[in-house]
Amino acid sequence: MRNITVIIILFLSFFILAASASAFVIETVIGNPTGEGLPRCTTLDANPRGCLSNDLNITVTGSFTDDQIRSIYNDFWRVAGKSRAYWELLKEAGPSVNEDNSLPGEGCFAKVENGNIYIQAYNKCSDTLLIHESGHVFAGKNSRYLIRRFPYEDEIKNSGAACVEDRCNNGHAFIKTYSLRDKSCDSTSNPYPEKCTFGVSPKGESFAEALVDYTTPGRIGRRSSTYCSVAIENYKSDCKNAYAWMRDNVFGGAEF
Ligand SMILES: [Zn+2]
Repeated sequence: MRNITVIIILFLSFFILAASASAFVIETVIGNPTGEGLPRCTTLDANPRGCLSNDLNITVTGSFTDDQIRSIYNDFWRVAGKSRAYWELLKEAGPSVNEDNSLPGEGCFAKVENGNIYIQAYNKCSDTLLIHESGHVFAGKNSRYLIRRFPYEDEIKNSGAACVEDRCNNGHAFIKTYSLRDKSCDSTSNPYPEKCTFGVSPKGESFAEALVDYTTPGRIGRRSSTYCSVAIENYKSDCKNAYAWMRDNVFGGAEF
């Protein structure tokens, strides 16, 4: 166990539409790779806090409305309902989701401290924000040391093919879809270098971002205009090693 440093990520407002569109998907039982099925909470309308706690081992603090809590549940369930392995990681970590309106800036900021998530204003957030943050939760809380084994460095060093690095990571080992990386990493391709931040971990952010990229294969291209982010057109084929590792070590074989 170890504490992790404060990590902040920003998603731009164009994810709002995606968040609202997916907020109330109605399903009863969702299959998983083992065929056992994870039973979705049947009392989400009446008791969203209870569903979040019972199904996902997540507690919420702050002034979130019931609608916002249902969105938090649905955003996690989009992934956990399809992957028992991811669900088990969440249950093991048992993070809290806390309101923190002191976070800077506009849009949707979030941070993870000691394995717990702090978000600024959830109604503005992307439906993938919490999946990204869950990567930091796993890095800080879970016993399987996933972050240590995440193969992004090996992918770059051992690929022997510049195209792998070009398609998946930038020259400083950040996954390309991550927004807030060091501006010096992308002096030619970064459209907003002055807005990028320093001091974030390439491996930690690449791991967290890879969870999002893995679970949103059809949406990765839309992120190309977000601060420093650059599109990865096809995470499965452009980041072959990391994709396979994510599939086997985080998602238990489930694919999205
Ligand atoms: Zn992050």
